[in-house]
Amino acid sequence: MTQTAIDYADSHKEQHLNELIELLSIPSISTLREHIPDIRRAAQWVADQMVAIGLEDVRIYFTKGHPVVFGQWGKAGPDAPTVLVYGHYDVQPVDPLDEWHTDPFQPTIRDGNLYARGASDDKGQFFTHLKSVQSYLETAGRLPVNIKFMIEGEEEVGSPHLGEFIDEHLDRLSADIALVSDSHILAPDQPSILYGLRGMVYTEVVVTGPDHDLHSGTFGGAVRNPANALCGIIAALKDSDGRITIPGFYDNVRLDDEERATLARVPFDEESFRRE
Ligand SMILES: [Zn+2]
Repeated sequence: MTQTAIDYADSHKEQHLNELIELLSIPSISTLREHIPDIRRAAQWVADQMVAIGLEDVRIYFTKGHPVVFGQWGKAGPDAPTVLVYGHYDVQPVDPLDEWHTDPFQPTIRDGNLYARGASDDKGQFFTHLKSVQSYLETAGRLPVNIKFMIEGEEEVGSPHLGEFIDEHLDRLSADIALVSDSHILAPDQPSILYGLRGMVYTEVVVTGPDHDLHSGTFGGAVRNPANALCGIIAALKDSDGRITIPGFYDNVRLDDEERATLARVPFDEESFRRE
């Protein structure tokens, strides 16, 4: 079943590549208002693609921000697990434009790599999963698991409306496994499945000081320079081993022994890591 699906994907490589190029040509930049029509166009493209490959219940959900595209295939039976694939069709802005070797929205192949904004984050990734599903459905006529796709359009702005969307559609999105289709593989010959990610915290710190110059001879040492104070605050966030010192920061971070042992077996080349 798997080999025939792989053969199908191989023999349709050219066609699939052309479709990916079509998707990559849509400048779906979520941070810029002038690209709202492109965002809509990309959402529609993804929905059309889902229908074309044989997904069911395909729908574009309009949120208070950019739309979420949903599609599923659920005929593997109630005993088979259900996989929810997450991805995003929006992309980052492209400036400074003159640092691109080729137009970011005119996908170009160089040295066997496809260059375009979003090629590796995240259009290329979820497209791979869509095409994997298609390859199974076209050959075996079925999948070994039930599958759901949730492809959003606001990841690059912090997914401000995704939480609300998930709360509203919990039943529809329920799954045994959530697969994040928004990461990288370890090497071209080293596929990987991602099941956890670091979170992200950011904050704005404002440090204020005197509203006029102070004479160093009179006030130096007694009044702290805001620039020094800020440096101190930033430096205190980590200890000399790089561990974050904020109380409670690691409370919900968990990595058991089995996971550590598995991670230790992942091939790692320090040289290429440094180069990257
Ligand atoms: Zn991403």
